[in-house]
Formats: sequence, C-alpha cells, structure tokens
Amino acid sequence: MITGVPGTGKTTLAEALSEALGASVARVDVNALARAREFFLEYDDEMDTHVLDEDALLDEMESELAKTIDGGCVVDYHSCELFPERWFDLVVCLTCASDTATLYERLEKRGYGERKIRENVECDIFQVVVEEAKDSYENVWVRENKTLEEMEATTREVAAWFNARVEERKKQG
Ligand code: ADP
Ligand code: MN
Repeated sequence: MITGVPGTGKTTLAEALSEALGASVARVDVNALARAREFFLEYDDEMDTHVLDEDALLDEMESELAKTIDGGCVVDYHSCELFPERWFDLVVCLTCASDTATLYERLEKRGYGERKIRENVECDIFQVVVEEAKDSYENVWVRENKTLEEMEATTREVAAWFNARVEERKKQG
C-alpha cells in the first residue's frame, strides 16, 4: 500500500514499483478504479472532493486482491484506514514535509484552489496520513518523495523487501 497526501507522488511511485516487480504483481490505482467504476456518491462542495462509495470499492477490491494472493499487489490511495489490515503487509507513506514548497507547487500545477492546497500541505506537515497508517497497520515506512533520487531509492527498497518476502514464502513451501 502506497499512501500519502495528494501530490506526494503515490501514483508515480506505484507505477515505477509495479514496473520493477513485473507483470505477475497486480496494480490497483484506487482513484482510477473509483472513477472508472463510478464508485463516487456525490461531490462534497465543502471539502471540494468526491465522496467515495467505500462499500462498493471494498467489494470490488476484495475480489481483485483474491485473484492475486501469490503475486501480490501494488495499491495507492491517499488514505488507508478504510482497508482491512490483513490486505497489506507493508504500508509506505510518502511525504514532502522537509520542503513544503515542493507539494505546494505540485498541487498548484494540478489546479487545486488555494485553500485545498493549504489544507493538504498542512496535512503533510502534521503527518496526518502517517499517524492514520500507524494506527491501522504494523509495518509502516515513511519516506520523503521530493526528488527522483528519493523515489528511485524507495522503489529499490520496497522491491528488495517484496522479493525477500517472495523467497521466504517459497522456502516455507
Ligand atoms: P499522487 O498520486 O500522490 O497524488 P502523483 O504521483 O500524481 O501524486 O504526482 C504528483 C506530481 O508530482 C506529478 O506531476 C509527478 O510527476 C510529480 N512527482 C511525483 N513524484 C515525484 C518525485 N519523486 N520527484 C519529482 N516529481 C515527482
Ligand atoms: Mn494519484
């Protein structure tokens, strides 16, 4: 599970990781899936975001993940507490908190309004998603993701973790 505030680079890293792990590993971009299957209930004007139909999403993902027990799956979403703990063996929280201008600029480019940018940057500074992940999962890594070098290092690190796990499971039969 790759998580973090919008704009921290989840989808970009998840795609790179998916590429590194190969075709036997499934990939779920939760936002793309929710959009494609219309798992959104309504638009929340106050929060300036779509409200997710969590039950429909979880049902769909449950059957997706059931198909991929051996190969594993790379999932990315800005929140993780809605998913059952047993679904994910590793949660990677991306952050750009060591230089707030980075996230600000990325969200500005995405066309977010001033208030929404500020809220997301504050969430990143206060590590809201990190706390949420640690409350919900055992194995949580927090990684800065401002530069391509940082992204490549994290991708290598997670791929090594994944491959070691696959080997371990093989030995256990
Ligand atoms: P998220 O899925 O978390 O909302 P994205 O993966 O869509 O974030 O990335 C947001 C923007 O930041 C994109 O324009 C992407 O190219 C850029 N980006 C993502 N990760 C990095 C990185 N490690 N270094 C530089 N730019 C990045
Ligand atoms: Mn994304």
